[in-house]
Amino acid sequence: MQSIDTYDFSGKRAIIRVDFNVPLNEKFEVTDDTRIRAAIPTLKKVLAGGGAIILMSHLGRPKGPTDKYSLKHIIAAVEQRLGAKLLFASDCLGAEAAEKSKNLKPGEVLLLENLRFYAEEEGKPRGLAEDASDEEKKSAKAALKAKQKEFTKALASYADCYINDAFGTAHRAHASTALIAEYFPNDKMFGYVMEGEIKAVDKVMQNPARPFTAVLGGSKVSSKITIIEQLLKKVDNLIIGGGMTFTFAKAQGGKVGNSICEDDQLDLALRLIGEAKEKGVKLYFPDEEVIADKFAEDANTKIAPANDIPDGWQGLDASEAAVAKWKDVLLSSKTILWNGPVGVFEMEKFAKGTDAIAKIITDATQAGAYSLVGGGDSVAAVNKLGYADKVSYVSTGGGALLEYMEGVELPGVKAIRGGC
Ligand code: AMP
Repeated sequence: MQSIDTYDFSGKRAIIRVDFNVPLNEKFEVTDDTRIRAAIPTLKKVLAGGGAIILMSHLGRPKGPTDKYSLKHIIAAVEQRLGAKLLFASDCLGAEAAEKSKNLKPGEVLLLENLRFYAEEEGKPRGLAEDASDEEKKSAKAALKAKQKEFTKALASYADCYINDAFGTAHRAHASTALIAEYFPNDKMFGYVMEGEIKAVDKVMQNPARPFTAVLGGSKVSSKITIIEQLLKKVDNLIIGGGMTFTFAKAQGGKVGNSICEDDQLDLALRLIGEAKEKGVKLYFPDEEVIADKFAEDANTKIAPANDIPDGWQGLDASEAAVAKWKDVLLSSKTILWNGPVGVFEMEKFAKGTDAIAKIITDATQAGAYSLVGGGDSVAAVNKLGYADKVSYVSTGGGALLEYMEGVELPGVKAIRGGC
């Protein structure tokens, strides 16, 4: 396997899959350039080594070419961070892209238009009738597969080497994230974002300094089962907050009022509690919640035990006292993983628990713990508070991070490490 640190880029064209799927406002300005900033070290390394760059990315979920999701909107933001001008190809396929990449000189950077303007990128047929038969779906998929091969081959033809630096899409076997690697058997490598993410997750999941504490929040147990099961094999302490709290509370005979609760997951919740006991993992739930009489910023609120919430009320945030009880366990941890908010942090009124967790994790980091924060919501909370530099690692990948932690071999990782 090649490494970006030792590869000779001199006179070569590197095609780099980046994750420039950044949020834009109504004036098409980039409102959060975290992902662009994250990619810059990789780009600078290639340019400093005498190479030229072809950048490819997706933006949003277009169903075909549309101005709204054009990557032209992000050119200025990339140029500003990179400190160099970009060339742009208004179609990732075709004569313009081929010509411009062929003529690239060392030090030049070409950005290709949104890959997802083509269904071939994801390999998912588009425009199928809702009532299409299985047979029709199958044949549409087969037809697209053949076109996907041509699409991938065309992208590969632009360059001499391939770098995957898009951890956010590494869990997808798309043309640009995995399939393209096949065309560069000896000239494929991870960029620094990918390398950093893999190293951070491996550090936490393979060889954590102990005690190891995970904080899991979010809305649903059902979407976090596999990760909870994986974590139970690894952690010493597991703090579960957010909407998941109430499925566990009800399973143990608690009253959860109108709180979000998955009645079909009660048995599972009990099984997970049993598994934790068996493995000697200490489980923590918020014992007290900020409860509200409606799901709104202007709701009336009060504090109640998380397992005794009156009808008509719902738990929307871990209370200050509840979070304070987790403080000692977090401060004495040597490894901390945080994924998911412990309240409806999108509303300022119910963001205090999540903010407090973020603060405690920065304190624990200062005291010597290794902390990994991942998942869009926890990362947003950390960024909002200006704590990104005060935790050990902020992951850019949501789904990819969870799948990697669940032990799934990500297609984007496998394509670089081994076969496709
Ligand atoms: P997930 O996508 O499963 O990680 O869940 C993230 C979402 O969980 C966020 O949008 C939060 O608003 C939501 N959430 C956290 N705590 C609660 C709660 N107590 N009740 C309802 N939703 C919650």
